[in-house]
Formats: sequence, C-alpha cells, structure tokens
Amino acid sequence: MIVVLKQHPEKERVDRLMRHFTDMGLQINYSEGENTTILGLMGDTTRVNERDILAYDVVERVQRVTEPFKAVNRKFHPEDTVIEVAGRKIGAGYFNVMAGPCSVESEEQIIEVAETVKKAGASFLRGGAFKPRTSPYSFQGLEAEGLRLLLEAKRQTGLPIVTEIMSEKHLDLFADVDIIQLGARNMQNFMLLKELGRSNKPILLKRGLSATMEEFLMAAEYIFAGGNTNVMLCERGIRTFETMIRNNLDISAIPLVKQCSHLPIIIDPSHAAGRRDMVQPLSRAAIAAGADGLLIETHNNPRCALCDGAQSLDLPQFDAVMQDIKRRAAFEGRALQPEV
Ligand code: PEP
Ligand code: MN
Repeated sequence: MIVVLKQHPEKERVDRLMRHFTDMGLQINYSEGENTTILGLMGDTTRVNERDILAYDVVERVQRVTEPFKAVNRKFHPEDTVIEVAGRKIGAGYFNVMAGPCSVESEEQIIEVAETVKKAGASFLRGGAFKPRTSPYSFQGLEAEGLRLLLEAKRQTGLPIVTEIMSEKHLDLFADVDIIQLGARNMQNFMLLKELGRSNKPILLKRGLSATMEEFLMAAEYIFAGGNTNVMLCERGIRTFETMIRNNLDISAIPLVKQCSHLPIIIDPSHAAGRRDMVQPLSRAAIAAGADGLLIETHNNPRCALCDGAQSLDLPQFDAVMQDIKRRAAFEGRALQPEV
C-alpha cells in the first residue's frame, strides 16, 4: 500500500502518521521526490482502513499495491534510482559500460584488457574470479588470486571493478570490490540474497536463465528487504527453444523494468547471444530501448580464452563497438560515465 502525501507536508504531522503505521507493526519505505512524498507500507496492510488514513490532512491519496514486489516497485519510488559508485552515476540517463574478460586468467591479461577498455571509454572493469561453470571439469576461476589481480588492475588503471560472488562465505574477500555481481545461476540463492541485503555494496543482479520478470524483481526485493537499496538489474538473455544463439536477449525487459521498477537496468549482450558478431547490434538495440548501461565481455586473445571466448570481443573490436556506443548514447541523450 502506498500513501501519497500532499505537497510540502508538515514534518510533525507526517511523524504522527508514521507512528500510526509503526504502531500497527508495519514497515515504512519513505520516499521523498522533487514533487511528491510517498510512504510505502510493507507488512500486513489488510488491517489498514483507507478512510482512517485519508482522515489525516497531510494525505493526498491511498493506493493498494497488488504486485508482490514493493520496495523495488515504481509505485513506491516514482523517480529513477541513481546509484553512485566510485564517482560514476548509474541510472536515470547516466550510462555505463562495464567491460573485461569472462574470467581473470593472469596479471598480464587483466592489466592489458583494463588499460585498453579504459582508454576506449569503459567506466568499469569486469572479470570473473569465482566462476559458476556447468561442468566441474571446466576452469573454475582463479578465485582469491583472481580478486587480487582485479584489485591490482584497479590500482594501476583507476577503473572500479565488477565481479561475481558465489557464496556468502566469501563476502569478506569482496571488501574492496566496487560492484558485486550476483550471477544468473544464483538469482534465487536466497541465503546469498539475504546476505547481500545486509551488506552495503552495490549489487548487479543478473536475471536467471528462465526467470520471469516477477521472479527477477522479487530477487531484487530480497536485497532491499535486508536494507541494501544499491541494486541494479542485468538482463542477460533468457533460455528459449532457439539453438542458433545461446540465449534470447529480452529487449522488452528494458521498458518493462522501467514501468514496474525504479532500478537501473544494464544489458549484457555477450551472454545473451553467446556470439561476438551480435554484441554490436544488441548493444544498439539496448541503447535505443532505454538501457542504463552495457556489460560486454572483452578479451586480449579470445581464441585462447579459458571461458566464453566465442562471445568475447578482442581489444580492437571493443574499441570499435565502444565508439559506436558513444555516438548512439549521445544521440539518445544519455550521459556516458565517467564524466570527464
Ligand atoms: C558472467 O558474467 O561471466 C556470467 C557467468 O554471467 P551469467 O550469470 O549471466 O551467466
Ligand atoms: Mn562469461
């Protein structure tokens, strides 16, 4: 349930109203925008009588929210959320490109990739240290050593880093990571969602391989419910009957998320198609449809990559795609980050 307040409400009267709700055992999500202030009520709101609430003179209107996702619902927070990480803004027209290899493989590799993607205009370095692989016999990532190498690349280039967590037991290792990625395969790992909710780290939450939009937003709701509101969504393709591409990029997820939620949405065209020749057209589609950023796998030698080589751009290809992204983002009125 949301309670929309009249403009410029008197603080004391708002406090009185809020006390009324907390006395009923409800949680309140307070959202103050430029034009409206909204109290989002969470908990058992069946006992809330709308007429009693309208009797408070600070109240403009009361609306029941039928969707199961509340805190991430745009009705609770009508303005776009902007997440600030390492001097970059994400969301509401601020556009970020996160680039780097699927897996961190060596110091030379990650430093070369970091330097190149930074020069081309990426605002974050991505790279996997803990890898969720279908086969236990495939390369599992360099784990803690991979994190150390990412931090070294960050130190040398100044690029903030995005990397995937696979277990809540590793949270301490991620202390200096700028954005923690929660991968598609863990989108409904509820213990991990709860732990990330208790942390204050920005989270990039990837959509599960066959997750509905409601399940996706409910996963984000878990993180919010723990108190962490620094969540960005990432659409990375969903599984369909098609076999010529790895997944189908769900472009409609962009306007759908914008309609249902206030969270930023990043598009991953690399895992979506699983083919490097589709990264540029899908990036264009994502920008045109309103995405807040892109996550692009980039490798200094894709043919020898230990993971996801077929979908990785090489460094000159990334540079070319990035120049195209810059032009198209500017055309669509997005503010490419970092601001120089
Ligand atoms: C990745 O980003 O390398 C990755 C494993 O992605 P996803 O969880 O979307 O498959
Ligand atoms: Mn990958």
